[in-house]
Amino acid sequence: MKPPLGPSRRAALAALEDFLPRVPEYASQRNFDRPGHREVSRLSPYLRRRIISEEEVIRRVLQGHPLERAEKFIQEVLWRTYWKGWLQANPHVWHQFLRDASSLESSSASSSWSDGYQAALSGSTRLSFFNDWCAELAATGYLHNHTRMWFASTWIFTLKLPWQLGALFMYRSLLDGDPASNTLSWRWVAGLHTKGKAYLAQPDNIQRYSEGRWCPKAGELAASTFPIDESRHGDSVTTPSLEPAGGEVSDVAVIMSADDLSLEAGLAGLQGLAACALVPPAFPLGESDSVRRFAADAVADARARIEEAVAPGAVTLLDSPDALPAWMALQPAQGFLLVLPTVGPDAALVEASLAASQRLGRPLVGRRRAWDTTLWPFATKGFFPFWERARAWLEGSTGPFHSREPLL
Ligand SMILES: Cc1cc2nc3c(=O)[nH]c(=O)nc-3n(C[C@H](O)[C@H](O)[C@H](O)COP(=O)(O)OP(=O)(O)OC[C@H]3O[C@@H](n4cnc5c(N)ncnc54)[C@H](O)[C@@H]3O)c2cc1C
Repeated sequence: MKPPLGPSRRAALAALEDFLPRVPEYASQRNFDRPGHREVSRLSPYLRRRIISEEEVIRRVLQGHPLERAEKFIQEVLWRTYWKGWLQANPHVWHQFLRDASSLESSSASSSWSDGYQAALSGSTRLSFFNDWCAELAATGYLHNHTRMWFASTWIFTLKLPWQLGALFMYRSLLDGDPASNTLSWRWVAGLHTKGKAYLAQPDNIQRYSEGRWCPKAGELAASTFPIDESRHGDSVTTPSLEPAGGEVSDVAVIMSADDLSLEAGLAGLQGLAACALVPPAFPLGESDSVRRFAADAVADARARIEEAVAPGAVTLLDSPDALPAWMALQPAQGFLLVLPTVGPDAALVEASLAASQRLGRPLVGRRRAWDTTLWPFATKGFFPFWERARAWLEGSTGPFHSREPLL
């Protein structure tokens, strides 16, 4: 039976259970873009906001399959962890992307590529396969991974449009739109992540993996890539940071963002939690209505779950991030604990919580999942050195993955 794709944890868990029997075939089937996308898990909108976490997905998969039979799938889940860790260590890449996308968008009308850009945005280019991808993205908020690669390569090397505007376009429409996975995947296709190694979409590859649904004609696609210039410009943004801290906490009011919506699944250290503010997601980049609706429903679902796990009335869903200082001032707790949001729109919460805690003269500690504090430091170079270390950690007989170290 097809699992529901609703914005709830129940739907996420059902999608995972539905996919489990297909994990062993994932390695050979995952590159095919077939209608219905049964070859892949469709877990990305849930993982994006941690309605379900990478750790939970991998634990469940390993209950059903030995690592060798599930390796490709686990490796792909860890691509997400890799991108998140890499961007966390290089936040300037996100800020530079935001600046570039904004200035390119505002000058687009007077640019030489203005007509091509408008045609790409409206899915009315001379390339029928590309137009189909635009239509699917707009209708479903999803594109298969291989198709995202073809899309980005076509955008950059055939339509010769700025990669930043393609990344912004996708980010706005994807239900799983993620600052790290999206921006860094676009940079990877453009040859900016692994210097000099760009991804070129090839007609026979598209035809093969779409099983003939899309057959680019000779000459329709660029036959080679070209180097993309990347000069860093503009001031680097210095945002206040809060280092994650461990240890016991007591008498704290918890602040959480829409970046991590399954707090109750790692609640072990939070028995003393008296109150929790759930800060709604920020949408500063023109995100589509479907993206906003999915996130808003996911936040409502999280609130109900966390209340059930803690106490009725314990969770306040704020109207907007601006309401946070007033909520903090009302809490009788001695201090605050922020579940740290990752680089991206929700990261502004760090600054807001720090400023309010200082005004109130009450301490603020930041917390991060053990999964992230363990694996992100491995994301210093390319994916494969990261994977080697992550795999050894997953296989090891000690460590947080095996001892079930709690989130907080
Ligand atoms: C240009 C481009 C843009 C992308 N933008 C995003 C984005 O905004 N958000 C996003 O979550 N993914 C992004 N991806 C990665 C990938 O395409 C999606 O994660 C995947 O297609 C989601 O479908 P799924 O859940 O069925 O994946 P599955 O194949 O079932 O994989 C399971 C999970 O592993 C993770 N994953 C798998 N492949 C990748 C990958 N290559 N990079 C990072 N994580 C991966 C995802 O969380 C995914 O849900 C992008 C890839 C490209 C090439």
